[in-house]
Amino acid sequence: MEPIDRLKLLSGQMDLEPAEEQCQANIGASKPTQIDKELFVHPAQMPGGKQILLLKTLLTSACEKDCFYCPFRAGRDFRRATFKPEEFANLFASLAQKRAAEGIFLSSGVAGGGVRTQDRLLDTADILRNKLGFRGYIHLKIMPGAEKAQVERAMQLANRVSINLEAPNTARLSRLAPHKMFMEELLQPLRWVEQIRREKLPDQAWNGRWPSTVTQFVAGGADESDLELLTTTAWLHNNVNLKRAYFSAFHPIPDTPLENKPAVDPLRELRLYQASFLLRDYGFDLEELAFTQDGNLPLPSDPKLAWAQINLREKPVEVNKAGRHELLRIPGIGLKGAEAILQARRQTKLRDLSALKKLGILAERAAPYLLLDGHQPVYQLALL
Ligand code: SF4
Repeated sequence: MEPIDRLKLLSGQMDLEPAEEQCQANIGASKPTQIDKELFVHPAQMPGGKQILLLKTLLTSACEKDCFYCPFRAGRDFRRATFKPEEFANLFASLAQKRAAEGIFLSSGVAGGGVRTQDRLLDTADILRNKLGFRGYIHLKIMPGAEKAQVERAMQLANRVSINLEAPNTARLSRLAPHKMFMEELLQPLRWVEQIRREKLPDQAWNGRWPSTVTQFVAGGADESDLELLTTTAWLHNNVNLKRAYFSAFHPIPDTPLENKPAVDPLRELRLYQASFLLRDYGFDLEELAFTQDGNLPLPSDPKLAWAQINLREKPVEVNKAGRHELLRIPGIGLKGAEAILQARRQTKLRDLSALKKLGILAERAAPYLLLDGHQPVYQLALL
């Protein structure tokens, strides 16, 4: 198969994996851009807001592991393809030169063990950076079983590294991927990344900065609860400086051991994202979120709204006096909205909903939970 045809095959098979901010469920996924017949790149938002065209692909879809949920698992009958590092780097560099792709998310099936597979990923990134002079965005996957020195090398070459935990703990992972070791092969590399960030200066990193770290969970694949997923997510944010957890609602793949397991409602994915942002950015603790008896987030309403209905209905927040932390508790007020309020009220008192609307706030949504200059504003009941 020609290299470009292999790339079409491999990148088409990567569609399922969220990687960058394009997949932020509450914003809505951006549409992929077609750069050739059957070859797509994805608009992805970088930190700072810049949008780039990201190619998501695998170095190989051959895999010797047998994860129960995965389309690439060993023995599954489908068309596989493989690149050598130099071959792939040259192909991607030619796309980048034509500005058809500006960044890459590079993963791989495991072939010949995690260490050898990681070496091939590192070789590819090394050729791109140091032989072909690529200065754009590289998101590099860390393989299960990779060594600490390999993790450090990945950090020197990439803008972002990721290790997919897939499940929130050892017991749950054993139901999804019985041959992966949660603590030793998946969590340990995440710890190494943070250890290296803390102990070493990034003077060997290609741009003088250590990369960010993300992970992914298969939500619902192991019958785990949202509470389990969010407990692990909160731990990762607090202990290994995880930038972002991605949640992929489980859906069954034919010819895998979980092919008869029902798909998980994609709304669960959205609720998990909303809750994880509350924990990461809005100062919420896990104990403050409402869970059903089986430890899941209620699907009908978003977790911040559910909290406000219990806690703010009787005690609305005075927008002209509240601190950032209190403003962020009000539904309809996000990170930018809270900053806008803090700035605006240095100039004037905020007295009505139209003043909030001008600041980009979802004023009707926020209205039941706030006071403006001592008065509850008149509002229309919002459809949730
Ligand atoms: S190691 Fe990765 S590619 Fe291989 S079967 Fe497991 S999840 Fe799929």
